[in-house]
Amino acid sequence: MNRRTFLKMGGMTAATALLDGCQSGNEKLIPLLIPPDEGVTPGAATWYASSCTLCPSGCGIQVRITDGRAKKIEGAPDHPVNRGRLCALGQAGLQELYHPDRIHQPLQRIGPRGSGQFRALGWPEAITMLSDKLKILLWERSPHKLALLTPPLSGSLEQLTGSFMTAFGSPLHLTCELATPDVLRQANLHNFGQAVLPFGDLAETRYLLSFGADFIDGYLSPVQYGNAFGRMRQARDTVRGHFTYIGGRLSLTAASADRWLPVKTGSEAALALGMVRLILSEALFDSAALARHGLTADELLKQLRPYDPAAVADLCGLSQEAIIEVTREFATTRPSLAMAGETLTFHSNGMAALEAVNLLNVVVGNVEQPGGIYPAGERSSQKSAPLSLASTIKLMQSGQIKVALINGNPRHSIPPATGFQKALDNVPFTVSCATLLDETALYADLILPGHSGLESWGDVIPRGGSRREVYGVIQPVVAPLYDTRQFCDVLLAVAAELGGSPAAALPWRTTVEVVQSFARQRRAPVSDAAFESQWLELLTKGWHAATELPAIRTLRWSTGYALNHPEPPRFTGEPQQYPLQLHVHVSTAFHDGRGAAFPWLQQLPDPMSTVVWDSWLELHPATAASLGISHGDLVEVSSVHGTLRLAAVIYPGIRPELVALPLGHGQQGTPRNRIINPLILLTTPPGSEQPAWNTTMVRVQRISHKGELVTAGHPEGSYRGDLIGM
Ligand code: SF4
Repeated sequence: MNRRTFLKMGGMTAATALLDGCQSGNEKLIPLLIPPDEGVTPGAATWYASSCTLCPSGCGIQVRITDGRAKKIEGAPDHPVNRGRLCALGQAGLQELYHPDRIHQPLQRIGPRGSGQFRALGWPEAITMLSDKLKILLWERSPHKLALLTPPLSGSLEQLTGSFMTAFGSPLHLTCELATPDVLRQANLHNFGQAVLPFGDLAETRYLLSFGADFIDGYLSPVQYGNAFGRMRQARDTVRGHFTYIGGRLSLTAASADRWLPVKTGSEAALALGMVRLILSEALFDSAALARHGLTADELLKQLRPYDPAAVADLCGLSQEAIIEVTREFATTRPSLAMAGETLTFHSNGMAALEAVNLLNVVVGNVEQPGGIYPAGERSSQKSAPLSLASTIKLMQSGQIKVALINGNPRHSIPPATGFQKALDNVPFTVSCATLLDETALYADLILPGHSGLESWGDVIPRGGSRREVYGVIQPVVAPLYDTRQFCDVLLAVAAELGGSPAAALPWRTTVEVVQSFARQRRAPVSDAAFESQWLELLTKGWHAATELPAIRTLRWSTGYALNHPEPPRFTGEPQQYPLQLHVHVSTAFHDGRGAAFPWLQQLPDPMSTVVWDSWLELHPATAASLGISHGDLVEVSSVHGTLRLAAVIYPGIRPELVALPLGHGQQGTPRNRIINPLILLTTPPGSEQPAWNTTMVRVQRISHKGELVTAGHPEGSYRGDLIGM
């Protein structure tokens, strides 16, 4: 095969995969360095397949390259997760690549932490600096004093980091994420014995009940679910699926519903159990499904005695009639589907709520049925329990961690009330592999700057976005703009310098080799020549999916499982001093903050408030009137942990006792002077193992009329009057 044919088949990136020797080989990608007769025409557009790296949903992308520059990202057509679509964050991936705050080369801190005083280093010196610190740990026989902090990983990088940490001798790998889908895995572990994420077959259902699952805003795989929602509504000739949303705030997802039940937040578990009781007492349950799960209606009814409709209605702040009507609709429409958002665990009793929604699906026979819920919607189950945030903080506080290797920005995305930031200050040597100069990098002792997603090799196993097994490849579509290295290459270089077990466990020279090796493991054994052809096909298409749907696993409700009765929600802050509940929600554009530095997303109007370029506090009109607050006023919101000043948005789509703040703002490098990080207000009740961020009580007072609110329209144009009873 000549080079021209090769480039045509696999794209230029495929060519680099098989180049030997150099660290990345990506310099060969600069199109203008490749004569036009080798397949590149100046001014002509070429598209390359890859995967979006901005969240774990793993959408397939295609990137348009002209004259060596990435110009546009689109969704990969036919990709099983996103079917040609992308979310706003995925579209803004170009701004990660071209961001002016990119770190250009390795840096060593020379001033106090946080001062921003660094000196530039070469890569050999930087890798040696980190390796020397790790060699000291090995020499002191304390390898367990190395901690690795990353976002949730998948594919070859998950395998590689696991091999590195095991070979080094440390079990300390913390994966941090603000909205924690891991609690969905834990709920499934309790109920079905498998720590896996669920897959809701939204496209095929006829009745959807969402308990705070904001699947259009950011739940698990928002592009997949948004797409499936469209098919649920419009793709069937005679069926338009019905959608009821249950939650205290009218989110973008809730605004797409037929009915909104504005439940008191923290009472969702009681509501779901009340619905189960009603279904059982009215004999609307699926007796075959109950028998399959080893449950009996009589036994369940005994346990559910406290959840009669009147008591539940009182607890939830809803009318009995509404609860009964929705329950009957849900139980008698086949197929139906109840989805629970991981944000339910932003309350102290959230795990009970997730389990109650699981039981609701079981009693009507929704589990592992088309149009229902597949609890094992994830192909692999976790092999071991991840290190908890609380135990990591304790280890750092007590001086048990000497080196922290960090990929991600936990200094921004973990609420300070947890003590994480102070504990991290206690670690003598911290290393950041950030792409932009974020909070974690600013306080790091050594910065080993990473590639952007569009400059990187890698792979992804999409999270909860398809029933089929999907594997996506990530490949560089442009040459690296700066002297950066991707995280995987850093680990390989450090392992090689350490020698011994780490070097033996990581025998590859480049990330490309790691990805190739992982991709090969996933397929049936073939000859080298056959694999080369599979590899080219993978790089050309960007993904591979199993053609068959996986066999139904016939999961069974855990034997001897006792009903998880929810405790009343707990809050932090005296009600006299802090009378309002703070409700934080994941931002549609910024997610947990990973998109906050991208100007395209800052200038994108929030779909509900229409605010651009800033953060805001939503108040119900009655609450605002009682506090003398008007739309656009500057207000001060205080919790026991901190105080923020920001503009007020009067929003009828929220319960009166709540005030709402979007997460994700206030990041270092955000293109706006006023840094508003809502996380400084948040707390969790003592002893809570869950990310119970919505247990924070606050006080709000008007400061002035100068809120400097910038909107692209009045929010009255954005909410649905029919849903909020106006
Ligand atoms: S959902 Fe995640 S993976 Fe998909 S386009 Fe958006 S940011 Fe990228």
